[in-house]
Amino acid sequence: QSSGPSPTVAIIGSGPAGFYTAQKLMRTLHGTKVDMYEQLPVPFGLVRFGVAPDHPEVKNCQDTFQDVAASPNYTFIGNVHLGHQLPLPLLAKHYDTIVFAYGASKDRRLGLEGEDKPHIYSARAFVGWYNGLPEYRDLSPDLQAGETAVVVGQGNVALDVARTLLSKVEDLKKTDITEYALEALSQSNIKHVHVVGRRGPMQAAFTIKEVRELLHLDDVNFTPIPDELFPLDLKALPRPRRRLLELLKKGSPPNEKATKSWSLDFLLAPKSLKWGAENSRKLEGVVFSRTKLEDPNSSESKVSSTDETVTLPTSTLFRSIGYKAEAIPGMEELGANFDERKGTVEHDGTGRVIPIETVPLSGSGTSKRPSLYCSGWVKRGPTGVIASTMTDAFQTAEAIIADWKKAFHNDDISSVAQQNLAPERLGWQGVLRDAKTMQIDLEPVHWDNWQSIDKEERRIGESRGKPREKFSSVDEMLQVSGK
Ligand code: FAD
Repeated sequence: QSSGPSPTVAIIGSGPAGFYTAQKLMRTLHGTKVDMYEQLPVPFGLVRFGVAPDHPEVKNCQDTFQDVAASPNYTFIGNVHLGHQLPLPLLAKHYDTIVFAYGASKDRRLGLEGEDKPHIYSARAFVGWYNGLPEYRDLSPDLQAGETAVVVGQGNVALDVARTLLSKVEDLKKTDITEYALEALSQSNIKHVHVVGRRGPMQAAFTIKEVRELLHLDDVNFTPIPDELFPLDLKALPRPRRRLLELLKKGSPPNEKATKSWSLDFLLAPKSLKWGAENSRKLEGVVFSRTKLEDPNSSESKVSSTDETVTLPTSTLFRSIGYKAEAIPGMEELGANFDERKGTVEHDGTGRVIPIETVPLSGSGTSKRPSLYCSGWVKRGPTGVIASTMTDAFQTAEAIIADWKKAFHNDDISSVAQQNLAPERLGWQGVLRDAKTMQIDLEPVHWDNWQSIDKEERRIGESRGKPREKFSSVDEMLQVSGK
C-alpha cells in the first residue's frame, strides 16, 4: 500500500501484544521492518508460560505468530533483556518507532504478614513452574503438606490453578506440562481446593468455560453454593451472567467415587495467616473477614468487611489476585512515564505514549526521538484474554500507521523532503554495533535458533506421548539452539 518510506520498529516483548502489533503494521505499511526483542530465548510470552497445558487450542495463535515471523522484514532478538542487559536509550537512534509490549512480569500481593513464608505461592509462580518458566523452575511447591489448599482470587487463573491441582495425572500427561510438575502432582496429597473471593457469584470474574471444565472433572465433587447467594430472579439477568449463574446453581451431581472436591467460597476477604503453635513456619489456616455487598444484584457492587471472621484450615495457600506490570529502567530517558498506580505505561487511550519532559538521550547522538507506543497488558492492565489483547494491539498498530502516514505520506511533501524526514535507521544492526562498542555482552537468539529449540522440544515430547517437552532453563534452551 505504501509508496513512501516505511518505519523501522522495535517491539519489546514477543507475547500476543507484540506479535499482533507486528502483524497489522507489516500488513498495512509495506516495507515496515520489525525487530522484536524478548528477554527469554523463546517467544510467545504467556501463551507459552501462562495458558494452561490442558488448553492446547488456545495456543493455536502461535501459527499466526509463526507466519508473522516468516517475513524477511521481521527479526526475532531473543535472550536480550531490555533495560537490564541492554540499556533502553541505546535503541533510540536506530528506530523510528518503539512499542512497549512487555506484559506484566510481577504479581499483586495480599499484604498479609508472613506472606513470604513457605507454603504460600503466587499463582504466577505456580503457573510458571508447571509451564516451565525458567524463573520458577526451582519453585518445588510442597503439595504434600496437607489435604486442603486455598486459592485466594476468583478469576480464570485461580480456576486454572484449582483444575491443575485436581486433574488426574493421566490426563495431564498428554499435555505439554513439565515432567517435574507431573512428578510433584502425582505425589500431591491435596484433596480439596477452596477458591475464595471477596464478592458473590454475581460479581465473580471467572468465565463459564473454566467453571464448566472444573465441574466436569472426573471423580471431583463440587460443594453446592448456598441458594441465598443467588439473585432471586436469574431470568432477568443479561444472558452471559444468567448462564454462568445457572451453571453454578446446578453444580455437578455428587459422585460417590469422588476422591477430591472443590468449592467456591464467596464473601471472604483475607485478613491474616494462622501459623502452627509449635512451628511458626507451618501454615495452619487463613483467617478471612466476612464481607457484605452494597448491592448484591449488581455485578459492579462495592464490598466492605464486617466484624465476623471465618478461618479456613489449610496447609497451602495460592494467591491469585492479579498480575502487575512494572517500569523498564531507562523508559523515562526515552520519554515515557510508567503509571505505578495503574501499573501501565502512560498513554492517550489508543496506545500513543504521552511524552514527558526528558533529559537529553545519553550517547544517542540524535535529536530526533523515536515515537513511542504501548500495546497489550502493559497498556491496558493485566486483564483480558488473547482475543482482547489482539484487538488492543491492532488499535496501537492503527495509531502508529496513522501517525506515520500523517508524517510521510502527505502528497504535499516531495519525495526528496520525505527522504530527509526519514533518515535511515539501522535497527538491530545499529544496536548490535553500539552494544559491541560499549562492551555489552549479548548472546541473541534468532528465529532459526528458536526453531531448533522448538524442534527438539517436540521431538522429546513425541517420545513421551505429549505435544512437547519444554526446556525450563535458559542454558538448556541455548544448548539446543544451534548457536
Ligand atoms: P505477555 O504474553 O506477558 O508477553 C510479554 C512478553 O514480553 C513476554 O514474553 C516477556 O518475557 C517479554 N518481556 C518482558 N519484559 C521484557 C524486557 N524487559 N525485555 C524483553 N522482553 C521482555 N488468554 C486466553 O485467551 N486463554 C487462556 O486460556 C488464557 N490463559 C491464561 C492463563 C494465565 C495464567 C494468564 C496469566 C493469562 C492467560 N490468558 C489467557 C491471557 C493472555 O495470556 C494475555 O491476554 C496475553 O498473553 C497478554 O499478552 P501480552 O503480549 O501483553 O503479554
